Amino acid sequence: MANGYLTGCALAICILICIVYFLKERVDNKETKLFQYMIFCNLAESFFTNMIVLVAMTVNSTFLFKILNRLDVMAIISWLTLMFLYISNVYNGNEYDKTKRFIMIVDSIFFLFTLILDVEIIASNEVLDSKGPLPNFALLVGGFFIVLMLLRVFTNKKKDFFNKKLVPMYFLIFFLIAMVFLRLALPSVNFVSIIISFVNLIMIFTIENPDIKMINALNEAKLSAEKANRAKSEFLSNMSHEIRTPLNAIVGFSDCILDEDTLESAKDDAKDIKLASENLLEIVNGILDISKIEADKMEIVETNYHPVEILDNVAKLIKPRIGEKPIELIVKYAPDIPYTIYGDGGKLRQIVTNILTNAVKYTEQGHVVLYVHCVNEGDFSKLIISVEDTGRGIKTEQIDKLFTKFQRLDEDKNTTLEGTGLGLAITKRFVEMMGGKIVVQSKYGEGSKFTVYIRQKIVAMNKLEDEEINEFNTTQIKLYDFSAARVLVVDDNKVNIKVALKLLSNYGIKADSCDSGFEAVSKVQTGSSYDLILLDDMMPKMSGVETLQKIRESVVYDIPVVALTANALSGMREKYLAEGFDDYLAKPIEKNELYRILITFLNRETKKKEEVIDTSVNINEEKENVENTTIVQKTVDDENKKNILVVDDNKINIKIAKKLLSHNECLVVDSALSGAEAIEKVKSKKYDLIFMDIMMPEMDGVETLHRLRRLGFTNPIVTLTADAVSGSREKYLAEGFDEYISKPVSTEEIDIIINRFVMKD
Ligand code: ADP
Repeated sequence: MANGYLTGCALAICILICIVYFLKERVDNKETKLFQYMIFCNLAESFFTNMIVLVAMTVNSTFLFKILNRLDVMAIISWLTLMFLYISNVYNGNEYDKTKRFIMIVDSIFFLFTLILDVEIIASNEVLDSKGPLPNFALLVGGFFIVLMLLRVFTNKKKDFFNKKLVPMYFLIFFLIAMVFLRLALPSVNFVSIIISFVNLIMIFTIENPDIKMINALNEAKLSAEKANRAKSEFLSNMSHEIRTPLNAIVGFSDCILDEDTLESAKDDAKDIKLASENLLEIVNGILDISKIEADKMEIVETNYHPVEILDNVAKLIKPRIGEKPIELIVKYAPDIPYTIYGDGGKLRQIVTNILTNAVKYTEQGHVVLYVHCVNEGDFSKLIISVEDTGRGIKTEQIDKLFTKFQRLDEDKNTTLEGTGLGLAITKRFVEMMGGKIVVQSKYGEGSKFTVYIRQKIVAMNKLEDEEINEFNTTQIKLYDFSAARVLVVDDNKVNIKVALKLLSNYGIKADSCDSGFEAVSKVQTGSSYDLILLDDMMPKMSGVETLQKIRESVVYDIPVVALTANALSGMREKYLAEGFDDYLAKPIEKNELYRILITFLNRETKKKEEVIDTSVNINEEKENVENTTIVQKTVDDENKKNILVVDDNKINIKIAKKLLSHNECLVVDSALSGAEAIEKVKSKKYDLIFMDIMMPEMDGVETLHRLRRLGFTNPIVTLTADAVSGSREKYLAEGFDEYISKPVSTEEIDIIINRFVMKD
């Protein structure tokens, strides 16, 4: 039976549409909802028509025919209504509700007619058809909706007749007209079901139904991007504040220096400038660290180090941060911590510094305990470093956010506390890089405990063992050999003499001493020759100043004499220099100050032994060694002085570099303000080392480097640049620079470069 095939086909298409459409995730809007209802009507209509065919083939009951026919017509009316609403929504979304109300009234009337109008069924083996008022009415209703749809489209201001969404409607009109003619030829074939299914099929392609999964993913990405953006904006404004604070101090105190009357008060201002600059540097380093970590450029630098020494230094440096707060800093070490271990001591220092800084920063009173113990297993030691405070604590729900970069907790309480929210993010990353872990325990309002577990290789369990190992270690950098230096300490106080002799003995100096000016004068007059005299000023009978005069009168050569005094009031240095002293050393003697004096005066007077330097030693290792007051320097005769060229377009930078190099008397430092000037200078003079800025107008540092190399200049060229972002070092080394140091530079860094490249032979 032809009729049955077509309706079966319509039902199959409809089921297919259901599967395709409902299996896919959908956007939930008015358009898709209308389409869903249209599919349901389509399904119902196809079902009723197929039932009619089934009834004709089986029971052939007129009663069932009539009921199914009425239901079928109702499904058709509903589908047409939804189609009209769909078109209305496309064209007149604003008046959609009004249209809906109107059409519901109309539909109620239509349904009423469907119930009361009669229908006559002709069902035989060959033919299955319906006749009478109901089918005619259904045809009229179809026509009515078509007219409504066309009116909606053509009366619309948009005049957008070729809208993709109208395609199903045009198809519907075409099929309905075709059906009218087809039915004349084939009166018993029911085309309605297949037309409806076909129009719905077309609608699948024209309906606005973007991939919901993609939308969800995009929405999530958008939300997290917005969140990251917000965090970065907050970070930037926070950072701007953090950077401005020390900058303000630097600018302010610089102004003060310009107005100060005495050098001492200017120096006090300079101290504050230094402190602010260090804060600033800390912030910049934090940002650099995080950018290095993000770019995966942060590396583990492994060397031998003394953990207790490092941790002790950290604890000492933290003390000033406590300020006036009533906090007791307690430091405890277990006795079995190895003396020397192999690993990244620099990172360990930073980790503990960050945690201790936070403990002190977020605690108002009570105590902060740094407790270090370890578990030694074979060659390895698992260091367990805990920092416990009685501070404000952290809310349990916020502990997760603690290690997120740019995140600061309890912002309202932080207004007066400086911070970037980077410290713990960096700390966690460092701990992970070292293969360790960090654990936080905290009770809000009561305090926190941060514990770090790090496993490092044991090198020596105690100092003795370490010294034995070092005896064979030829790559170790040795210090200046001052052992041949002849130093005289003059002080009326025996304890002071003892302290001075002890400090000097640290440098291998077996100094001579006496407790009065008379004795000192007689020593030099009776032929004892000295390379340096440390002379106390306030002595009974003959003061230091008088003693100095007598010494100067009695000896033919100029022995450097340094005033050694507890008189450390401002302006004293100038006073002593004016009296004829070569320098001034305040009591209590500071290790670094004494070292400076020794370098300054014994460097030019004493014959120094050559020392072995391993040039492959990493710059950081060298820096650490320099920090530990060991330094490498060699004897250089005057005629063998080394020529250094500093190339920078900024005069202040040149001034700073020259100042940093000035303490080394083995160097002659020239400067050039541009790449071109540098090339001219190199053509006319032999330079042993060039410090090169990168960002210079006309010819930048990299181009200057290449030109110099082409000219045949083979000596080291070190870039000295403000470009300190991650990867810069690698970039400049790849360009052909011999080493990279970033501004601001310290004397130690400059010394390392000089020792490595200039003093090596
Ligand atoms: P910063 O201290 O620069 O804000 P950190 O990453 O070091 O950044 O710390 C993140 C946040 O964790 C701090 O803002 C602070 O709210 C909280 N925090 C860290 N350590 C402690 C601590 N010991 N006690 C209480 N809160 C802490």
